[in-house]
Amino acid sequence: MTDTTFRAAVVEDFGAELNLRDVEMPTPGRNQALVKLQASGICHTDLHAAEGDWPVKPEPPFVAGHEGVGEVVELGPGDHTVKVGDIVGNVWLWSACGECVYCRTGWETLCSQAEYGGYTVNGSFGTYMLVDTRYCARIPEGFDPVEVAPILCAGVTVYKGLKVSETKPGQFVVISGVGGLGHIAVQYAVAMGMRVIAVDIADEKLELAKKHGAEFTVNAKHADPAEAVQEFTGGGAHGVLVTAVHPQAFGQAIGMARKGGTIVFNGLPPGDFPAPIFEIVFKALTIRGSLVGTRQDLAEALDLYARGLIKPTVSECSLDDVNAVFEDLRHGKVDGRMAIRY
Ligand code: NAD
Ligand code: ZN
Ligand code: ZN
Repeated sequence: MTDTTFRAAVVEDFGAELNLRDVEMPTPGRNQALVKLQASGICHTDLHAAEGDWPVKPEPPFVAGHEGVGEVVELGPGDHTVKVGDIVGNVWLWSACGECVYCRTGWETLCSQAEYGGYTVNGSFGTYMLVDTRYCARIPEGFDPVEVAPILCAGVTVYKGLKVSETKPGQFVVISGVGGLGHIAVQYAVAMGMRVIAVDIADEKLELAKKHGAEFTVNAKHADPAEAVQEFTGGGAHGVLVTAVHPQAFGQAIGMARKGGTIVFNGLPPGDFPAPIFEIVFKALTIRGSLVGTRQDLAEALDLYARGLIKPTVSECSLDDVNAVFEDLRHGKVDGRMAIRY
């Protein structure tokens, strides 16, 4: 490696525009690889990171981005199961300890030693990044890096969320919020045999949901989604997956679920919502949070993509566009996912 710097979009201060500048080229440490990026998706989480609007904050300056796809160009010390030239990706679960009770029991996403891509370690909004080769994504061969990138966060997150919604084939699932995560959730739910209802506050998003296989849609700006879903399903949805970026959608999920149903929260808008205790008890609802997925969930999510069952709607941009894309995300103006092509 001869370059000593590379270009990146750096979060210098919360709430300020990302600064496009040269940063120092990192050297891969033990179990790490240096990756030359080909593409990176832009997740709403990157915007939360840059705004510093979650209770646990990253430390500026840092490089966001956790849907990066690129080629391994250098390996650090250690035994690796990837080699120079392989196509890999960085993910939110950048690494974990591998030893704690969570790591040992299939809950590595809850490891308290975990590092998060583009949050606690520098991410994919730059032309180079580091990955931990024990935790990086293995990208199947022959796919466009821009198209596969959203699977690395949006895809695995909703795939896992749908699994833990315990919705069975033939049952109804509501996808609330049809953005980067939600439009891919519609596709995974269809692939998993579920009957999909989509809820958003923008008609274009609902059109996209229909294109990807939703059989019924509700614009929550113009109709009460609980009433509409109860009527369409005859008693409510078995599962509700909330990927929306407004707390209101989380409260509405309770009214959309059927008795005994399961509600899964993926979305992470800052704030709270009022939860009606009586309705939760009398409908015997399960409400659970779900955070990205394990390496196994990721392998499965990528496999469904590779077999042609999932096709993210992605528009490409350049690294220089990242501030403009953030502005569009803030206003719900991104159709599907935006991804940087390097
Ligand atoms: P996005 O901006 O692409 O999509 C958000 C969608 O929510 C938009 O379509 C918007 O119109 C819709 N929305 C806004 N208000 C709504 C309302 N009141 N009702 C219904 N829909 C509404 O964002 P994204 O990249 O899909 O991310 C969504 C959220 O998921 C973010 O908060 C992100 O941080 C979080 N996230 C969580 C995980 C996890 O592991 N749990 C992983 C990735 C992202
Ligand atoms: Zn993400
Ligand atoms: Zn651990």
